Amino acid sequence: MLHQLPGWQISLSRSRFSSVKTPFDVIIIGAGASGLVCAAEAARRRRSTLLLDHGDKAAAKVLLSGGGKCNFTNYNIAAENYISGNPHFCKSALSRYTQWDFIGALDEGGIQWEERNHGQLFASGSAREIQEMLLNKARTAGAELKTGVKISSVGQMSEGGFLVSTSRGDFSADSLVIAAGGLSLSDVGAGPFGYRIAEQFGIPVTPLSPGLVPLTLHKEDKQRFAPLAGIAVDAEVSAGGMSFRENLLFTHRGLSGPVILQISNYWHPGEELVINLLPEITLETILEKAKSETPKSLVRGLLSRYLPKRLAAALLPAELTERSIKSLNPSHLQILENAVHRLSLKPNGTEGYRTAEVTRGGVSLDSLSSKTFETRTVPGLYFIGEVLDVTGWLGGYNLQWAWSSGWCAGQFV
Ligand SMILES: Cc1cc2nc3c(=O)[nH]c(=O)nc-3n(C[C@H](O)[C@H](O)[C@H](O)COP(=O)(O)OP(=O)(O)OC[C@H]3O[C@@H](n4cnc5c(N)ncnc54)[C@H](O)[C@@H]3O)c2cc1C
Repeated sequence: MLHQLPGWQISLSRSRFSSVKTPFDVIIIGAGASGLVCAAEAARRRRSTLLLDHGDKAAAKVLLSGGGKCNFTNYNIAAENYISGNPHFCKSALSRYTQWDFIGALDEGGIQWEERNHGQLFASGSAREIQEMLLNKARTAGAELKTGVKISSVGQMSEGGFLVSTSRGDFSADSLVIAAGGLSLSDVGAGPFGYRIAEQFGIPVTPLSPGLVPLTLHKEDKQRFAPLAGIAVDAEVSAGGMSFRENLLFTHRGLSGPVILQISNYWHPGEELVINLLPEITLETILEKAKSETPKSLVRGLLSRYLPKRLAAALLPAELTERSIKSLNPSHLQILENAVHRLSLKPNGTEGYRTAEVTRGGVSLDSLSSKTFETRTVPGLYFIGEVLDVTGWLGGYNLQWAWSSGWCAGQFV
């Protein structure tokens, strides 16, 4: 359960706050990816716009994203790349502000970018160029940015609009946009603020959990795979009716790598992962060939041609790896098949928000317009970005959601 913000008042009057500074048309809380795009658009429409952030710098996560190179979007953006209580909700925004629009903005700003695997687009230089472009766009459009601002309360005023009380005084606005992001990486300003505001206004929040996150293993499996820490293999991993094929990395705590981050969005506690460690070729083909060409060779030697030696040793009993190919009986073949193509592991959890890239779940989409991002029950209150119940795959999808939702709300605030 989330707790109420201290100092919360649902109905306030501007006259009660002698320190209220010039009223704004729009206040945006959260100067991250979605907030900055929304601010630039709102200000471009000549709406006086104030952007508040409690962090020391804006777009801190953009700076860290993509290992400092910002995987800012993907060539292949579709609603299917997002997990959400309402899979149709994201379609409208993604089609009104697309990956091509963001690419166009980078080209206009002279920022070089490059394509990597799976249509992922990264800055060729550094994420800082993208952060600076976002800041410049918001500033040149006329938005005012204040960082290092602690927000103590947010309320609706009796005469309409919102009052935001902060460590730098009170500010009022007709429209209030919550762009406070999710829970991952509290060191760079993440926290439950957005969810709390939703709850304060009676807007439901779906269950939250870490997404795009490494998974941890039970003690026994951890001991079994610990010697493999640092080893990466190409694997296909399935859970929750989805499969991904990319690199799997064994860690001291369990499993990581892109394929695990992807599947973590679909995995739920108590469920099993089914791992195909040899997705490129079937074991049957390999064994048949070996049976006719080198029947006396050992299973160990054969597997080491396709899998790291240490992995084969962790997967199979020594009694089996030391057997010759020609001595394998049907039950041996079944054990081999299950270990290599259908390894079943039940993670005991995730590494949590400390290492997660995103928060799965969020502000319920039933309460919002997919066109404007305004809440249905509180006129003038908007939610955008990761705080919403929209979680993208790994590969630039989450930032594209931030850009798209921010841009769309910016047309209406
Ligand atoms: C390490 C890491 C790497 C990532 N890499 C990628 C990537 O390469 N590609 C990709 O698509 N996605 C990536 N993501 C995810 C992506 O960064 C986020 O989904 C995206 O930034 C969300 O945008 P947002 O505007 O909703 O929130 P954010 O960008 O997180 O911005 C939220 C802002 O709100 C502020 N805020 C929070 N609480 C308060 C408060 N109480 N008062 C005032 N301000 C507040 C925060 O300081 C922050 O500036 C990555 C995430 C992490 C953690």
